[in-house]
Amino acid sequence: MIGLISATAAGAAARDRLAAAWPDRTRVYEGPAGEAVRAAFAECDRLVCFLATGATVRLLAPLLGDKATDPGVVCVDEGGRFAVSLVGGHGGGANELAYEVAALLGAEPVVTTATDAVGLAGLDTLGLPAEGAVAAVSRALLDGEPVALEAESAWPLPPVPFAEQGAYTVRLTDQAVQPGPREVLLRPPSLVVGVGASRGAPVEEVLGLIEEALREAGLSVRSVAELATVDAKSEEPGIVAAAERLGVPLVTYPADELAAVSVPNPSDAPLAAVGTPSVAEAAALRTGGELLVPKRKSAASPAMATCAVVRRPGRGRLAVVGLGPGARDLLTPRAAAELRRASVLVGLDQYVDQIRDLIRPGTRVLESGLGAEEERARTAVAEARKGHAVALIGSGDAGVYAMASPALAEASDDIDVVGVPGVTAALAAGAVLGAPLGHDHVSISLSDLHTPWEVIERRVRAAAEADIVVTFYNPRSRGRDWQLPKALAVLSDHREPGTPVGVVRNASRPDESARLTTLAGLDPATVDMMTVVTVGNTATRNIAGRMVTPRGYRWQHAPEGAR
Ligand code: SAH
Repeated sequence: MIGLISATAAGAAARDRLAAAWPDRTRVYEGPAGEAVRAAFAECDRLVCFLATGATVRLLAPLLGDKATDPGVVCVDEGGRFAVSLVGGHGGGANELAYEVAALLGAEPVVTTATDAVGLAGLDTLGLPAEGAVAAVSRALLDGEPVALEAESAWPLPPVPFAEQGAYTVRLTDQAVQPGPREVLLRPPSLVVGVGASRGAPVEEVLGLIEEALREAGLSVRSVAELATVDAKSEEPGIVAAAERLGVPLVTYPADELAAVSVPNPSDAPLAAVGTPSVAEAAALRTGGELLVPKRKSAASPAMATCAVVRRPGRGRLAVVGLGPGARDLLTPRAAAELRRASVLVGLDQYVDQIRDLIRPGTRVLESGLGAEEERARTAVAEARKGHAVALIGSGDAGVYAMASPALAEASDDIDVVGVPGVTAALAAGAVLGAPLGHDHVSISLSDLHTPWEVIERRVRAAAEADIVVTFYNPRSRGRDWQLPKALAVLSDHREPGTPVGVVRNASRPDESARLTTLAGLDPATVDMMTVVTVGNTATRNIAGRMVTPRGYRWQHAPEGAR
């Protein structure tokens, strides 16, 4: 719950916007600010104070205890210009809240916590439970002291600048070990606990069995990702309550799916009761992994619960990210977030240069020169299969004449794939030219390196006959100079010489240039590989210097040739 406190009319107005946007997450504290802050501090996880930072600091000072337990506090100024993360930046969630509040109110987030300020991910914000010397190890990272990662299994972590060896360590482990004095333990959600229970099995018995199994196997309860059982037990109160108390989801499978899983300890009792010879082991093993604790029964007599524990491997993550046509503000926030999320970045060197400032310290950058597309795709997939978080980047949209298809042609279903769309060249150029894509349009690459020219020409002819607006990608290079004139000649068989043609070079980049000409007037020598060429349909017009294709054309207005 987020407590909202304000003292002035302007503050109250901003407060009400927040309350309206997040009705279930917020509670408004009325009355004098001092009392309101005290009450909210006691009752809420986080506070947003529409007060001066000075006033807020004075009110909070006597209330502050421990940063692990205190609520995070964000201040918003009277003008609504800044959302300041004041205390509890990481643990209290104030940094994140400052970003959220700023986005909602159109304010600027102000975050001063050191790890965020220099682009390092805080160890407590890696998305995994962290135990031990979080502050000391974070400080060591910030000060550039060597911190080593000891990962017992691969996990797709965000980037952290780990060293080979160091006096400080971050240990990724699901084992029930204690952190050393200069050590942080990260708990990956790697354990799946399969459970079975007779009707009416008490939660104490189910939970007790799970905790005992973990303890005896030396495993940390904080690494339990989920409980798994058979569909028929999806509402068994003891199992449901055990999942709730552990704070993990309960996943259930049909009996016939579980029956198909081969297990070391099948038995007749569950076969008769629910239709599978194994519930606990089969449910735990269902998504693959290593059986760490074979089926065991609770100690009660008669035993009403069974459990088994499996360690599942981390799944690598491949983000295929379009960077847009060039301008930074045409790179989407989602693309920027994925660039920060990845610990391995794969791309063409000139695209890496474009976003180098967005990459966090600790990111491994695998850049290569022109060509070598297949190899880049293979590298990205191979890194993801090792369990890393990988971003494969491309200009414009990464799926348009770019890396997404060779990469996904390589990828198997043992990795997660996330696609981030980007503004492709045709759209960037369209916005520069006016509204050339207002009706049906197609993109055609004139590169015959991978496609026979006959195929390309057939597609150009089809577009010409169908009167579709055409954008040519890869239109002309030093070694490929006859294709564009040939394609324009094919279009000229079906369109007037005066048909508008837009030529945009380096759309949205500092040296952007654009020309609006005609089919007859286009000089191919002005076109190169940094260019797209958009040819209008028979209804496209040059209106006040802008290329406009009508939304729909009324037949009687179409020119002679199109009737
Ligand atoms: N994935 C990219 C296209 C890669 S093919 C995208 O979605 O935009 C490369 C071709 O795209 C270039 O030869 C050029 O024709 C075109 N192109 C890419 N960026 C461009 C830009 N900023 N301005 C003009 N054309 C561009």
